[in-house]
Amino acid sequence: MIADQLKKLKDELPESVTLVAVSKTKPLAMLEEAYAAGQRDFGENRIPEMVEKSAALPDDIHWHMIGHVQTNKVKHMAPFVHLIHAVDSHRLLEEINKQAARNERVIDILIQLRIAQEETKYGLLEKDLMLLAEQAKTEFPHVRVRGLMGMATYTQNTIQLRNEFRRLKKAWNRLANGLYGGSKDFDILSMGMSGDYYIAIDEGSTMVRIGSAIFGARD
Ligand SMILES: *Cc1c(COP(=O)(O)O)cnc(C)c1O
Repeated sequence: MIADQLKKLKDELPESVTLVAVSKTKPLAMLEEAYAAGQRDFGENRIPEMVEKSAALPDDIHWHMIGHVQTNKVKHMAPFVHLIHAVDSHRLLEEINKQAARNERVIDILIQLRIAQEETKYGLLEKDLMLLAEQAKTEFPHVRVRGLMGMATYTQNTIQLRNEFRRLKKAWNRLANGLYGGSKDFDILSMGMSGDYYIAIDEGSTMVRIGSAIFGARD
């Protein structure tokens, strides 16, 4: 039961940690069940799917785009997206800023840092983080950087997971005490999924993205 899983998680998570229920690939009925149990933050990784689901569900849901974003699709989510988790390029920032302006709003984003050992195209290398963070802060009035996001390696090795989350938290601290020092808005560290959230929370996560532990395994 989805409601039972949600309750179990809520009991386990510190109150300061936001639970994003990752509902990608899952049918509306399952999201409705989670909504009825009080869940309001949902995460999707494809823009068309998120647009479709948002149109069918109540307006007080916070929609999180947690996956890689194609620049040409930003316009479809710009009117309603709550937080874009995986921003990793100047080009994407530019497009989010443009579409946010068109919708007369400011869109909250997280910068994705690459922390996993696995081969992936997504996420910034640490050496490139400061430059993009500076650009985001100075060039784009319709974008607000709320923090960082990262995905750890898919592994059972808890020492490795801990080290990866620690690196992300360190990078977060540097920004929170440096470029974003004094800003109350830089307050989100999105890390932790079904298999590793308990370690992520130990290492300072403020937002976990949990799918299969709530809705069951995906095909
Ligand atoms: C799918 C996904 C999750 C959730 O994964 P689970 O292992 O099902 O909890 C979290 N974050 C991102 C970026 C994802 O794509």
